[in-house]
Amino acid sequence: MISLDFHPAGRHFLQIPGPSPVPDRILRAISYPTIDHRGPEFGALGRKVLADIRKIFKTEHPVIIYPASGTGAWEAALSNTTSPGDTVLMYETGHFATLWKSMAESLGLQPEFLGLPGIEGWRRGVQPDMIEARLREDSGHRIRAVCVVHNETSTGVTSDIAAVRRAIDAAGHPALLMVDTISGLASADYRHDEWGVDVTVSGSQKGLMLPPGISFNALSPKAIAASKAARMPRSFWRWDEIIEANKNGYWPYTPNTNLLYGLSEALDMILEEGLDNVFARHQRLGEATRRAVRAWGLEIQCADPAVYSPVLTGVMMPEGVDADAVRKRIYERFNMSLGQALGKMRGKMFRIGHLGDCNDLTLMATLSGCEMGLKLSGVPLQGSGVAAAMEYLTSHADTPALKAAA
Ligand SMILES: *Cc1c(COP(=O)(O)O)cnc(C)c1O
Repeated sequence: MISLDFHPAGRHFLQIPGPSPVPDRILRAISYPTIDHRGPEFGALGRKVLADIRKIFKTEHPVIIYPASGTGAWEAALSNTTSPGDTVLMYETGHFATLWKSMAESLGLQPEFLGLPGIEGWRRGVQPDMIEARLREDSGHRIRAVCVVHNETSTGVTSDIAAVRRAIDAAGHPALLMVDTISGLASADYRHDEWGVDVTVSGSQKGLMLPPGISFNALSPKAIAASKAARMPRSFWRWDEIIEANKNGYWPYTPNTNLLYGLSEALDMILEEGLDNVFARHQRLGEATRRAVRAWGLEIQCADPAVYSPVLTGVMMPEGVDADAVRKRIYERFNMSLGQALGKMRGKMFRIGHLGDCNDLTLMATLSGCEMGLKLSGVPLQGSGVAAAMEYLTSHADTPALKAAA
């Protein structure tokens, strides 16, 4: 038997922080027949998703949709706005910030990597004062862009993007602000225009509840102007040709037709629930999860309550416990996938995803699997996290969408 034939009874619990479970409604939409990407029906689909995706980013400006994973949209953001040898200021919040920095190096940029030392930087959000101080030193304005991750998926820590914008403005620096919200979009509050972001990078397989395979660049007029002067070689990622074709709902090449059906359905679902309700639901599920972790007597990776992620929670293991062994036991015994620790945190923690198509009972099943798996792994627990989470969920207002239906 090959491993792909492994289908135990019941559904698999995909509780990693992306890909997140894809709702049936979206899977059905993806199964519609593939159509002519130059025909009239496709143009209507293209115009619809291009208009509605702006509501999710909260922008009036173009949003580029690529048939690529989030990594491609990272490259698109850098290659459209910079020239070889440019300095970019990046901030180390965790593994994804580190990968984006490595990409900048591969592209021939000179990234400067700011951050708090050691593990500490992986437990807190971006420190805007460090960015402001560095930009003030750069009197010649050599730094082309400031790049930060909004929801650091490797740790469960968010960052205050509006504060980063204020730091750049306070330093009077013309650098572009580029933000990765690949895992934050459509789960955590995000405002491209209001926060003064120049390029926002996102992806399909996290809060948007789609399979992997499409990703985004939301732009500002300043970013579009910068792309005209930028000399980094680029072809597939070029914004100008895509923006031109998008005016009529088309792409310069074959777009990801079936995933765009899925995107259209996902946008309908999110806009029907209401973005604010989506955010409130995630905040509530995040809080219930953190109460469970505290009741177990374990430590939450994020050390600053002001920036807890509503998307995922990083759970630190006591000294001597191998987090990967706990995850493996939970996978084999309860058919649930939890997020592996990445980079500096390898083996020291696991990540519980509570994003996308997730409700109270999905979360309770997830926390039950964690609690049973921790016990089976011999991790000493102070109390029942499941009980603490249930207490919170029963005593705190349900999601507005459910209240409206009642
Ligand atoms: C998932 C993720 C990425 C990488 O996206 P891929 O789709 O795997 O290429 C980058 N940054 C963050 C914050 C992510 O969560």
